[in-house]
Amino acid sequence: MIPPSNLTFQDNLDPADWVAYRDTAAGFLQHLLEWVQHAPARPVWQEIPPSLKSQITDEVLPIDGEEISSICREFIDRILPYGPGNLHPRFFGWVNGAGTPTGILSEMASATLNANLGGRDHSAVYIERCVLNWCKEIFGFSSASSGILTSGTSMATLCALAIARTTAVGDIRRSGLQRHARQLVAYTSAEAHISVTKAIELLGIGRDNLRLIPTDASFQMDLSALERAIKKDLAENRQPFAVVGTIGTVNTGAIDDCVEISRICRKYDLWFHIDGAFGAWASLTEDHSSLRDGIACSDSIAADFHKWLHVPYDGGCLLVKDERVHYETFSTSQPYLARTGRGLGAGHPWFCDYGPELSRGFRGLKVWFLLKEKGIGRVSSSIAKNCAQAKFLEEMVQLSPSLELMAPTQLNIVCFRYNDYDSDDGELNKINSEIVTRLQESGLAAPSTTILHGKLAIRVSIVNHRTSIEDLESLISYVERIAAEPLRRIVA
Ligand SMILES: *Cc1c(COP(=O)(O)O)cnc(C)c1O
Repeated sequence: MIPPSNLTFQDNLDPADWVAYRDTAAGFLQHLLEWVQHAPARPVWQEIPPSLKSQITDEVLPIDGEEISSICREFIDRILPYGPGNLHPRFFGWVNGAGTPTGILSEMASATLNANLGGRDHSAVYIERCVLNWCKEIFGFSSASSGILTSGTSMATLCALAIARTTAVGDIRRSGLQRHARQLVAYTSAEAHISVTKAIELLGIGRDNLRLIPTDASFQMDLSALERAIKKDLAENRQPFAVVGTIGTVNTGAIDDCVEISRICRKYDLWFHIDGAFGAWASLTEDHSSLRDGIACSDSIAADFHKWLHVPYDGGCLLVKDERVHYETFSTSQPYLARTGRGLGAGHPWFCDYGPELSRGFRGLKVWFLLKEKGIGRVSSSIAKNCAQAKFLEEMVQLSPSLELMAPTQLNIVCFRYNDYDSDDGELNKINSEIVTRLQESGLAAPSTTILHGKLAIRVSIVNHRTSIEDLESLISYVERIAAEPLRRIVA
């Protein structure tokens, strides 16, 4: 046998010079940690120069490799400065976690083990089980309940509603849903996250069969409207099967009355899923500990680690009270994936039997690192701090003659707008949108916007453990300063 030319059987993809490699790696890590340390001193966000966008996008496929040191340098010079901004204490957009240095270490550790969490018998599996046990304890689920780590709440909610569908119609994995006699219907609030709609679409139920129940003045689901909608669907011979409640809506941080929703679900025999993406973690704080009552009444809950827990993207979890129906919905058997009593094929039950994916990354490790390092004490006090900061900002808005509060602040989100009490709503929408764009482009602060009852609001979501009261005072003064610029002419 002659090896193909230029190839030797000694070749592999490891470094030729391990010592030099380790030096480069140590220097790189040093740089990354310093980058995080000094994040507050940089602009919140800066646009990537257009030429750099195309240079990055259109780079030719490398045929011959280059030195790792030059790739690290390129990352530092061209990629790192133009990130999404969520490390910065004045990043207030959407709901993004701020990360921690420990996130960097844990991701490196996870890549070192390079574990596939589909199943089998190895240490990473036990870390994921441990993290799930901690989540069960946090959310008051019994140890008999099941769970799985997911890419986030979208995936967790998709899985939860698939399990709810199994509960409602039995095993349709062979026959599909077409043979099912009655139209399935689900319910959520008009303020619910779009991932609920997507899940209903993907499950073949169709979004016309997701009822978006109106909300009250605090943006919580109107429960008499919910019950009326259920009764109407029953009267018209459809099959209600699930209600999704939200703890912490993305628009305003509104919290549905989960205890009451669960009563309605018991009455009509419906699955009750909670989207607790970020808000569910507030149940760890003293002020919001009563959220645990509602969570305990649910059949399943989805929550994210990459938001208020600051674990690096991505990571979330699904917990399910009924382990059996969870397993029934996703379990498979394949000779190639034989579960055995001993050896690497042991470690039953396998996570691939509790979700759609076979190969799964080691998401548990970064959660394990974070919770061990900070403890629940520090995690919950950083969440409580953000809620207190939101109350402070709400007061500042109420004290300002030119700012108008647009929604009650229930958790960590404050929605307000600049109002000169001279322009109509259409003009104010344009002015406030321009204020937010200028804030982002200046790199001073990065809130986002939303629409509440047709009015555009500056939306400040405080999820960052680095945010201080001074950052919020600065935000208000930046908004007032930009509003004093000749905005009307520009937006006209
Ligand atoms: C972020 C969020 C989601 C979606 O979660 P992902 O982790 O982004 O998939 C769903 N619901 C709420 C309330 C959210 O904040």
